[in-house]
Amino acid sequence: MLLREIKNIFHLELDAIYGKDEVNSFFYLLIEHYFNLERFVLVMQPELNLDKEQETAIFGALSELKLEKPIQHITGTAHFMDLDFKVNKHVLIPRPETEELVRWILDDVKELNQSLTILDMGTGSGCISISLDKNLIEADVFGLDISVDALAVAKENNKLLHADVTFLLADILSLDKETSAKGLERKFDVIISNPPYVRELEKAEMQNNVINHEPSLALFVPNEDPLKFYKAVVNFAAKHLNENGCLYLEINQYLGEETKQILKESKFKTISLRKDMFGNNRMIKGVRE
Ligand code: GLN
Repeated sequence: MLLREIKNIFHLELDAIYGKDEVNSFFYLLIEHYFNLERFVLVMQPELNLDKEQETAIFGALSELKLEKPIQHITGTAHFMDLDFKVNKHVLIPRPETEELVRWILDDVKELNQSLTILDMGTGSGCISISLDKNLIEADVFGLDISVDALAVAKENNKLLHADVTFLLADILSLDKETSAKGLERKFDVIISNPPYVRELEKAEMQNNVINHEPSLALFVPNEDPLKFYKAVVNFAAKHLNENGCLYLEINQYLGEETKQILKESKFKTISLRKDMFGNNRMIKGVRE
């Protein structure tokens, strides 16, 4: 079948769910992923034909898109900080807001050019810890997660991207009991966390591809105690950050002031709240006294 006919079928079947522009970008991403074809191929070769095997691949992806499977799960890859990370249903797909958090850290520490010790709490795919490790040659980076399946993805990314992060299995909510056993007894210069923060009551605002395909474990918190991970992270960071060490958090946009308050009540000074590119309160930095 002609590639341009397949593109028309994509629009017919998917525009109602995603809109024309997003379907265009899915289509070009898929032909690049499967066939290594660049997006201007249809201009250069309007009569380009796909063989049966290629048709099977692209129509397979079309059926998955109809079921609102995230495109990153179909290709198995997500782009983050100019790196390609493997992803699957066990890890959160890296978000552009999280890139902004990583860039904030890099802007702050890059010129220090010293061997910082860094910990990422709730590392998932490893996107934060690995991209920091790649950008800070001297740094010693650690990432922890409660999920064995997530850590398997993080470790694979670590290998594929030639990074050198040390990954640890640990539960943010019971670190007090576990630190000596988990190799977390040391002190850090930088601690980062993007823990679960979406309240069950916010599910209504979320898209099906997130609710049905991304791990609830990495996303949701109970309405009655939405900041439980932040309390635990701040408590750990108060004990495990060096003097003037920095804590960086991605946060729930509706709970900026409440989250800031947790740092204020602990051992943090100069606490700053920042908005993401969409204008939502999305990250906090606190400096350990
Ligand atoms: N920002 C993510 C979302 O909108 C949530 C990330 C998280 O819970 N840490 O789905």
